[in-house]
Parts: sequence; structure tokens; C-alpha cells
Amino acid sequence: MTPYFVPLGGSGEIGMNFNLYGFQGKWLIVDVGITFSDDTTPPGIDVICPDLSALKSVRDEIVGIVITHAHEDHVGALHYLWRQLKAPVYCTAFTASVARRKLGEAGLLDQVPLHEVLPGCELELGPFQMEWVTLTHSIPEPNALCLTMGDARVFHTGDWKLDPHPLEGDHYDDRRLMELGEAGIDFVIGDSTNATQEGWSGSEAECHKALLEVVAKQTQRVAVTCFSSNTARLASLGDIAHETGRRVTVLGRSLYNYLQTAKSTGYLRNFPDLVPTSDLDYLPRSEQLILATGSQGEPRAAMSKLAKGEHPDLVLDADDTVVFSSKVIPGNEKKLFRLYDLLSQKKVQVVTEADAPIHVSGHPCRDELRWMYRALRPQVVVPVHGEARHMAAHAELAESMGIQGVRVTNGDVLALSIDSPTVVARVQTGRLGLSGSSLVPLSDRALSERRALADGGLCSLTLVLDKKARLVSLPQVQFVGVPTGDVESESVVVDLQALIEEVMAEQNSRILQSDDALRDAIQRELGHALRQWLGVKPRQLVQIVRI
Ligand SMILES: [Zn+2]
Ligand SMILES: [Zn+2]
Repeated sequence: MTPYFVPLGGSGEIGMNFNLYGFQGKWLIVDVGITFSDDTTPPGIDVICPDLSALKSVRDEIVGIVITHAHEDHVGALHYLWRQLKAPVYCTAFTASVARRKLGEAGLLDQVPLHEVLPGCELELGPFQMEWVTLTHSIPEPNALCLTMGDARVFHTGDWKLDPHPLEGDHYDDRRLMELGEAGIDFVIGDSTNATQEGWSGSEAECHKALLEVVAKQTQRVAVTCFSSNTARLASLGDIAHETGRRVTVLGRSLYNYLQTAKSTGYLRNFPDLVPTSDLDYLPRSEQLILATGSQGEPRAAMSKLAKGEHPDLVLDADDTVVFSSKVIPGNEKKLFRLYDLLSQKKVQVVTEADAPIHVSGHPCRDELRWMYRALRPQVVVPVHGEARHMAAHAELAESMGIQGVRVTNGDVLALSIDSPTVVARVQTGRLGLSGSSLVPLSDRALSERRALADGGLCSLTLVLDKKARLVSLPQVQFVGVPTGDVESESVVVDLQALIEEVMAEQNSRILQSDDALRDAIQRELGHALRQWLGVKPRQLVQIVRI
């Protein structure tokens, strides 16, 4: 029987990874991730999950959910989507600790069978045999899976890089990778994030050196922001505090959470004791190293509040230094440039990765991909975890090494047949936005209306009609979120009232007696007039009351 690979998220985008393997009528899920909103997302939606409608008919055939590592784009949707899956979850200890916190917050901890596996272990779930293979990345315990389905052997990389000095956690095992290649790998399903970048991604050890140089030069307070889940970077910063005679204070919940998770699972053993914010007044600025959340300019995070001078526990002073030890994720440029400006206005020095090599990526550049394919010697590479251009560059690199590159996108059903790996069908995919506690398709009418309201505001009209469909009083007009100016607004209201009377006078009695038909007639005329008068077309809410 032929195995299948079906990405429902993460192929054609960076984020929201959700992969399925199918074999002998059973299904294995690898990763359940979220993605975050961007400029194209309706207002009020911060978190986006994959649409799992395609799984409805096979829900009872899911043998397990494997989470490769603890990044949000791999584990972040588990607590939102588990009720639709109801399958046991498998992951290593660090990931399990992060997953438990999320499941606990969602009240699901007692319901989800969560199994911790050891790095490097072998596991059998239904017809799927798998070996967990430790790699390096930017979080502890990144696992690849070497899956055996009948005669087919698939190496699912998860997120990885080759870091010779990862500072925290295990090294990658080059000998094991070569042994797997020797035994024969048919398919690699692999990370494409940096497939457009030549060279190597660099090591956390080099990053440590550059960060130390930056911090050692400063004579006043230093505040550093980085991804909270990057335990190696936190370890570096702990050491740098020690090396430069500074004490560490942490601002932001997600940093506390990850510090706690890392310590409880055996990482960050040498991390210094924290100085509470209440003690900062007694510590000279030159001895303070602040770690703050918000490396992407998230408005509710600590760094954003520090830049705006709104943090309840700390005010940055002139000559302090803020270090962004992270990359700018595309789409966040505006938010971050605004933060840099706000800090500069306070005469705070800003250091980013453009000024010094204080960040390294956690994903493989082209030389690392080449190294991996020389070790594994696969027949076929299927690029995932990337936008179209990343996946195209990845496929082209594989082809240049004489390996067949097969392109898929979310929803493709790829038959993993060595002779002819082919997309044999498509299934439904989509994106669900988290609105309050409900998951709503981003194409939902309510969300497009929300965007229209955000774009143009609302014009609310109330008409009170008698039995003969005559206006009992002047129509009530109210604008919400439409800047009209006081004087103009009054004249616009008078003009609108007149226009409504005019429109009504033109309608026959059939239309006048039907709420829907009358509403349509009024909206048609008013929409045109409002655009002419105000230059925008607000949404109209026409309420008809008959007495
Ligand atoms: Zn990822
Ligand atoms: Zn990752």
C-alpha cells in the first residue's frame, strides 16, 4: 500500500504547521501549530489555526499526534484543536512541559493523553514506526522523525539547523544521520525557511561572543529582548550578566514561563538568580541587565511598554541601551521601527542585528541543506515550512544535487511512491481566526463586516413607520467611527434625512411594505450619496420599526 503525505498548514506559508501521514487507512499527525495575524487579517484576530474539516471523516483513524518541538508554529494550536482530534499526543519533555501549560490554561489537562518520549527513542503507532532524531534549532529538543511506512522511509526534518556549539541541549548526531542515509532514506520532508540563503546559519556560540562585546561596552543599564523560547540565548545572557558584573531582571510573562519550563526540564542550570523589579532602585544602572519580552514590537509586551514609557516597574533613562537580539520577522518592520524611534527620542541607544551579529537563525541555510542531503542521500525532497519562494529554492537545490524535488502546497495529497511521487488529490484547507473563544473561518461574513467597519465606520439609520408605511418622525441618523466634523455632521444628517424621505416617496407600496426591499432601496441610494459627501462609504445599519 502507498503511504500519503498531506500538509494542512505550513506549506506555502511560514507558520501554522500541520502535517498528516496516511498509511493502511490510519493517520498520523505531525505538529499542530498556529500563526499570527498580519496586515491582511481582520481586526481583533491575533491567532490563526488551520481548518481541519478535511479530517472529519477519518477522525477515528488518527493513531496519534506527534509534536516535533515547542515553537508556537508547531505546538501552539494543540489546545485549540485537540477537541476535534481526540488522539494521544507524543513529544519530548521540554515540549511536553510547554504543552501542559497551554492545555492547563484551556482546562484540558485531565483529558489529553500526553506521552513523554525520550530523544532518540523508537515508537510504533499503528502502522507507523518512527525513530526520533535529535537535531539543533533555536529551542531545546528539536526532533526530526525517521518514519517507516511499509517499504517507504521518510525523514521528516521538523525545524533544524546544524549548530556545532548549541550552548544548551544536545548536539546533532552526524554519525546517526549518516547511518540512516546508509540504511536508505526515500523521502525527506524538510524545512525550507532559509533555502534562499547561501552559507551556514551560524552558531549560538558566535552570537554569545557578539552579545558579550555589545554589553561589555555599555556603562549604563542594558535591556535585551529576544525570543522567549530561545533557551540558548537566555543561557548566553545569563553568562554575559556574570561576565560583565550585572544582575538579571526579567520583564514579561512569556519569559518567566519559558525560564521556568527550561529549569524544570534540566536546562539553564547556571542561570543567575533574578533581581525582582522592586529591588532595581537599589542597584546601580551599570549593574542592571534587563531581559524583556517583545522582540517583534508586540504592543502588549514589555519592550513596547518600556519604549512608550508605560511600563509599571521600570523607566528607561538617557544613555541606557536596548538590544534587539532577534531578527525582524517580515511584516513587523513598521511596529519595530516605531519602537526604535521612540527609544531614540529618549536618547536610549538601540542595537539591532544590523549593527552587530547578535542573532543567528534557527533554520538551515543552503550549505546545511547540502550537508544533510549528502548524509541522508534521499531519492526525493519535498520542501515544506516555507513560503512559495523558499520552497522553490529548496526544490531547486535538491535538483542541483541530483535529487528529485517535489512541490506541494497546503491541501495536496501526495502519494509517497518512489517511482512516481504524485499529488493525487486535494482536500479542503483554510484558516480559522480565534475570535474570543471561537474559531471562525477568516472568510466568514462576520469577519469581513468587521474589516469593513474598521475601514469605513458605521452609519446607523432608524426609520419609524406607521401602518401606511409613512415616516412617523424624522429618521434617526448616527455615525460611529466616521469623522465628519461637528458642523458638517449636522448638515450631513439633515441631507440624509431629506434623501431618505425622497427615496421613500419614489417607492411603490409593495416595496414600502417589505422591510428587506425598503432597506435595499435606501442603502443603494445612501451608499452613493455618503461616498460623495464624506469620501468614504461607511457600513449602513438600517433599522425599520413599524407601529
Ligand atoms: Zn517552525
Ligand atoms: Zn521551530
